[in-house]
Amino acid sequence: MGAITLNNIEKTYPNGHHAIKGISLDIQPGEFLVLVGPSGCGKSTLLRTIAGLESVTEGEIHIGDRQVNSLAPAKRDIAMVFQNYALYPHMTVYKNMAYGLKNRGVDKAQIDQKVQDTAKLLHLQDYLDRKPGQLSGGQRQRVAMGRAIVRDPKAFLFDEPLSNLDAKLRVQMRNEIKSLQRTLKTTSVYVTHDQTEAMTLADRLAVVNAGVVEQIGSPIEIYERP
Ligand code: ADP
Ligand code: ADP
Repeated sequence: MGAITLNNIEKTYPNGHHAIKGISLDIQPGEFLVLVGPSGCGKSTLLRTIAGLESVTEGEIHIGDRQVNSLAPAKRDIAMVFQNYALYPHMTVYKNMAYGLKNRGVDKAQIDQKVQDTAKLLHLQDYLDRKPGQLSGGQRQRVAMGRAIVRDPKAFLFDEPLSNLDAKLRVQMRNEIKSLQRTLKTTSVYVTHDQTEAMTLADRLAVVNAGVVEQIGSPIEIYERP
């Protein structure tokens, strides 16, 4: 079984909109899966069902060896990175990164080690005492990733994390995510509508359209096959 397995997922919103129409995916441990497809096709909905931010109407979600359908987001052992950062504005970078661990009762020395290591990995060592308002967009995005990384989750879920950044920064952050992926090898599901981002990052690409997966394969198979 994969690190994340989706078994015939259906999602109908309370207003009757049928956003996901039978999606099955077997995401392998350490795999970086990118979901691409037009706006409104259901990418974000699918990611949110994995995170537990939306319930599914039908089907099963497994993370590791657990069926997580009725587990709250915090119990699923996954970390989400959004485009709007969702950092705590009144807390320093250090505290933003430490917060989740502190809540879980991890001891101070361990938290400190983890935050320092992660800050180094993300080139944030010199910014630990700043608040989000005193950081650039790229630095804020790194803090958001840092907060996910310190928790050592079973998987990262990325929802268009770079779409608020300018073109130059987007390329830089894309390369940083690629390099982090090589270092951490954490199972990841990444939503984007940017083809270059998809091709650069994906081990495998799933093309979503109107609530179904139309194609799945390596970037070469998807984009370069005649
Ligand atoms: P994508 O991420 O691919 O742009 P979404 O998953 O956000 O697509 O949306 C899929 C479809 O579900 C869209 O038609 C959207 O309007 C609809 N949708 C998203 N969220 C809700 C909601 N809370 N209630 C009703 N419909 C929704
Ligand atoms: P609280 O208000 O929760 O008591 P503190 O300001 O005391 O928070 O910080 C929590 C812990 O994080 C403290 O042990 C502090 O030493 C540590 N800490 C805060 N900022 C940094 C930093 N930049 N580098 C190393 N440790 C830090």
